[in-house]
Amino acid sequence: MDIVVRNLSKRFGNFQAIDDVSFAIPGGQLVALLGPSGSGKSTILRAIAGLETPDSGTIELVGEEATNLPTQKRGIGFVFQHFALFRHMTVQQNVAFGLEIQKHPKAEVQERVQELLKLVQMTNFADRYPLQLSGGQRQRVALARALAPKPKVLLLDEPFGALDAKVRDELRVWLRRLHDESHVTSLFVTHDQQEAFEVCDQVVVLNHGKIEQIGPPQELYERPASPFVTEFLGQVNILRPETILGMQLDNERPLPVRLPGTPGGSIYVRPHDLVISREPNGLPGWPARIKRLTPLGWLARVELILPDSTPVHVQITQANSLELGLENGLDVYVRPRDLKVFEESSKAATAINYVI
Ligand code: ADP
Ligand code: MG
Repeated sequence: MDIVVRNLSKRFGNFQAIDDVSFAIPGGQLVALLGPSGSGKSTILRAIAGLETPDSGTIELVGEEATNLPTQKRGIGFVFQHFALFRHMTVQQNVAFGLEIQKHPKAEVQERVQELLKLVQMTNFADRYPLQLSGGQRQRVALARALAPKPKVLLLDEPFGALDAKVRDELRVWLRRLHDESHVTSLFVTHDQQEAFEVCDQVVVLNHGKIEQIGPPQELYERPASPFVTEFLGQVNILRPETILGMQLDNERPLPVRLPGTPGGSIYVRPHDLVISREPNGLPGWPARIKRLTPLGWLARVELILPDSTPVHVQITQANSLELGLENGLDVYVRPRDLKVFEESSKAATAINYVI
């Protein structure tokens, strides 16, 4: 384990920014710290970097106790959202900076700088100044600069947050490739679920300073541990138990769902986990009316209304929509093929997944 955080807590005045957070990151992994704005991501990263003093808890870096080490002794590379390149230095001077401070021999610095510029595909821009680069290029240089002194761990705080969508997409693919070549243990802060899923081996989901769930992206998506994780990781319909109970199409074949026993329970179904048909087909489901059909390229978004007025969003392919002859106002049938049911117990919500 290269980054071990144990029982970390931090208050700002009366505000609990981090609340008893523990996690461990194996060497060589790229892990996302994912959560909404204000959930404490940057504070955790800053604590690991030694830029913030936690109220309690410990931090271990590559097997070494680091809780009280000064930042420069932690062997950390840091990349922030806002470009922090030195404006008066060229690209290669920026990348060389950390190595020159450590007083490496000139020839060695030159060699390492060339190696890194190649790695981030900036060799042809070595003599440019930051202002002569695009936002994406600047962040690539910032990464090269952070990697130059061979950090034991790399911390990235929303490094692509200030870039436009297309550049972000390119940089995600590029960061993943870079990581596969460099294998530096990395913690990547983002509020963007798509970004975390595309780039990272594991995801730590944070909410109000607490960890909600840790796991590989697909596992979180398929088996979310809480209503928060379910809602944060993509669009979802929230159904009431009465809706589920009150509208079985066929009482002989009820949905195989044990409903939440307590009022706090809830039932979730993702828009693409609902199937529309023109006729009741003997499977459990509900009658519904199409309120609005919106073709979105290869996808179609269907807004349905159930008999008890519950709105339900469905996503199907445009091909499927044409095949079914869907149109506004049409009466159809809809059935779920996957439901997530949360029982609200005293402390944590436990999910029951039904694949139908
Ligand atoms: P995130 O990076 O997830 O958006 P942060 O870790 O930056 O969240 O902040 C978590 C919470 O702590 C926020 O509500 C923020 O306002 C508060 N906070 C962060 N740093 C300070 C500080 N130095 N003083 C007071 N409050 C702070
Ligand atoms: Mg932040």
